[in-house]
Amino acid sequence: MENIFENKYVLLTPGPLTTSRGVREALLKDMCTWDDDYNNLTQNIRNRLVNIVTDNKEKYTSVLLQGSGSYVVEGVISSAIGENDKLLILSNGAYGDRMIDIAKAHRINMDILRFKETEPINLEIIEDKILSDKNITHIAVVHLETTTGILNNLDGICNLSKKYNKTIIVDAMSSMGGIPINIEKLNIDFLISSSNKCIQGIPGFGFVICDREALKKCKGQARTLSLDIYDQWQAMEKDNGKWRFTSPTHVVRAFSKALDELEEEGVCNRNKRYTQNQKILVNGLKEIGIEALIDEENQSPIITTFIPPLNEDFSFKKFYSKLKENGFVIYPGKLTELETFRIGNIGEVYREDIERLLKAIEKAI
Ligand SMILES: *Cc1c(COP(=O)(O)O)cnc(C)c1O
Repeated sequence: MENIFENKYVLLTPGPLTTSRGVREALLKDMCTWDDDYNNLTQNIRNRLVNIVTDNKEKYTSVLLQGSGSYVVEGVISSAIGENDKLLILSNGAYGDRMIDIAKAHRINMDILRFKETEPINLEIIEDKILSDKNITHIAVVHLETTTGILNNLDGICNLSKKYNKTIIVDAMSSMGGIPINIEKLNIDFLISSSNKCIQGIPGFGFVICDREALKKCKGQARTLSLDIYDQWQAMEKDNGKWRFTSPTHVVRAFSKALDELEEEGVCNRNKRYTQNQKILVNGLKEIGIEALIDEENQSPIITTFIPPLNEDFSFKKFYSKLKENGFVIYPGKLTELETFRIGNIGEVYREDIERLLKAIEKAI
């Protein structure tokens, strides 16, 4: 008989991902959104999220928002850029492009710097742009482009933002919790992530860690009601953890458990686990002729894009099915020009899983 408590396969996808049994068990209790227990849980989560990226509680706060990660990106972009502001969006992948789509949808004054998907963002080009357009007030960038797995130079970009006194919005969706980030050192104004990535919870809400001063400037500026991060913040502050509209109570409970597990493991150790697993994966696949797309130097430990061997007629669909039969679910590629596939290694995934995966790939390719 099927064991209803265990997963049928390991998700090697960058969220939803394989969660622990403890996280899934936390879903078994119902909670009332008006109850103090639940609102205290929310406040507790808000505090612990700030803790992951800084000790400076005076300067930074956090806001939780219903929906997937993109809802928070949209919430921040549509709340933070005022009528007289101008946003510069840096993009080298699909998630950078999504920020462009968001800004377009809200008719926000913006400019775009697009870089090749396989190459890191070029700092000189950004600096030239900032110098040549004095109207730019805000910069938005993706830390880890999940499209390819490339890790952008956050230090360099944030240094420029600080040097020229810009407000910076960072989509750290697929990095926060899995890669150490110091929000104060980097001078980040808005740092966005969601419940179902490196913190290893289940999907249902996202959050933003904000510099309080930058957040205060959003007052009355939002272009939507439900994604207004300032109003959401005010409700949570004034009513001690109350979300404005119905919140995903079960997801929030599961997320609290996921935070327990992250605190137990520590961000640095989690990063080590991801890094080791990613290296085993890349080296193992190299041995059977499958190369990673991104240079080692710019590759993140979170998700990797692979190029299937050229001489075989590779079908992602068949490859996917064979791996699924053997207990692994992977991701298709997201590049326009090249047939690729992606393997994430975040979540409750350990060395033994990657070793079993390598054997399964060898058989499936
Ligand atoms: C997952 C992810 C998002 C959010 O995508 P959703 O589909 O809304 O969850 C945004 N940016 C990056 C870099 C991501 O990896």
